[in-house]
Amino acid sequence: MTNGNAPNRHAAAAGLRRLSRPKPGFATLAAMNYAIAAPAIPSLPIIGSDRRFPVRRVFCIGRNYAEHAREMGATVDKSAPMFFCKPADAVVADGADVPYPQATAELHHEVEMVVALGAGGRDLGAEQAKALVWGYGVGLDLTRRDLQAQAKAKGHPWDVAKGFDHSAPVSALRPAGAAMVDAHTVLRLDVNGEPRQRATLGEMVHDVPHILAALSTLFELKAGDLVFTGTPAGVAALQRGDRFHAELVGVAELQGRVV
Ligand code: MN
Repeated sequence: MTNGNAPNRHAAAAGLRRLSRPKPGFATLAAMNYAIAAPAIPSLPIIGSDRRFPVRRVFCIGRNYAEHAREMGATVDKSAPMFFCKPADAVVADGADVPYPQATAELHHEVEMVVALGAGGRDLGAEQAKALVWGYGVGLDLTRRDLQAQAKAKGHPWDVAKGFDHSAPVSALRPAGAAMVDAHTVLRLDVNGEPRQRATLGEMVHDVPHILAALSTLFELKAGDLVFTGTPAGVAALQRGDRFHAELVGVAELQGRVV
């Protein structure tokens, strides 16, 4: 140890100990002798880059726009944000077809800003949590609304309503340093050229730093995690053949078709 600033270094380490960044060396896992073919790592394109963003997990917040909570007959509990998850391999890339899912007759769209994390940590304050944001995109939190209604009525979990195959179309991501995102940024969705959902990010009940801070009290967040930040009012059904065009205006766009 040749560093003469040990006390300062320890102080800095204490201040940062809740933040974790991925360490190099993970590639060595590729040499592992798996019993079956290892699944591919889901990933998203990055606007302005040839590199891709590897997706680790997909977290979602529920009831984060008051008007949407009202249209669902729910109330917003500001003190207790509500979260659920989707599998990482539910992600569908921009431009790809979305197969109409099995076991539903009521597939709903929920357009949402998606935040991609470049670092992790647990029990973070809002200011620390803000530093985790690597980039932004727009996505659809596709929902089997009929199964969700049944789950709510029975007090069952939402997994089958939310975490099904192909349930998370997401745009290419724009790195945070190249994205202008503020309370005036518009989030919108058209289906077959007709407007369905539109809001500004200022209408969110919990802003991004507070969503991430709250999530980090439940999970140790990690680089690669995506967070769907809630949908505004106007959710409605998608049918086979419908074409959707979602936009976080000036930041990211997502198009696709239900087949
Ligand atoms: Mn949602």
